[in-house]
Amino acid sequence: NNFEQLGLNESLLSAISDLGFENPSEIQEKAIPLLLEKNTDIVALAQTGTGKTAAFGFPLIQKIDLSKKNTQALILSPTRELCLQIANEIKQYSKYVKGLHTVAIYGGASITEQAREIRRGAHIIVATPGRMQDMINRDMVNIKHIEYCVLDEADEMLNMGFYDDITAILADTPEEKSTWLFSATMPREVASIAKEFMKTPEEITV
Ligand code: AMP
Repeated sequence: NNFEQLGLNESLLSAISDLGFENPSEIQEKAIPLLLEKNTDIVALAQTGTGKTAAFGFPLIQKIDLSKKNTQALILSPTRELCLQIANEIKQYSKYVKGLHTVAIYGGASITEQAREIRRGAHIIVATPGRMQDMINRDMVNIKHIEYCVLDEADEMLNMGFYDDITAILADTPEEKSTWLFSATMPREVASIAKEFMKTPEEITV
């Protein structure tokens, strides 16, 4: 199928085939080869339903170094429901990638249980900004060595008042990383996050 042309490996192609995805969506066609080939920042204007979760999820899964145990990727998302949905999708996409651990952290559930899950190993963390900042403050999570940071539904996160949490979290990540920002709209606050925290991002619109 046409996912092969995008440069995805056999484990991902098998999972994609199990899911019955026949062709990449437009955002997937544009983002996946770029994110696999280059360590670049991107700003992607894309609505929900365009297949954006897989557009960042597939490259992320392929780029995780399983020989290392530390957290390598952080995905920030506005709500508990979206966090769970993204973590769930990533788990399905990575079903043939043995030993890849994805953990969702969000408010309204036990923080000690979530801290325990992280201690067991979390290559990829999917988090709401509030709970993430809380866990950083309590030293329950270490994102000082992440290589990838995804800001999903950035406009929604800022609408919900997460600006301070997001900037504090980003300040706790290494300078040397790739940041992938997805947003349905581009209000001033989103542009300002991109300007302050990203290095000449490539722009993708669908
Ligand atoms: P998202 O925009 O990430 O919320 O994805 C919307 C829905 O489309 C999800 O349920 C995905 O499982 C599904 N999906 C993502 N990519 C594809 C694809 N290439 N072909 C068919 N369905 C897809």
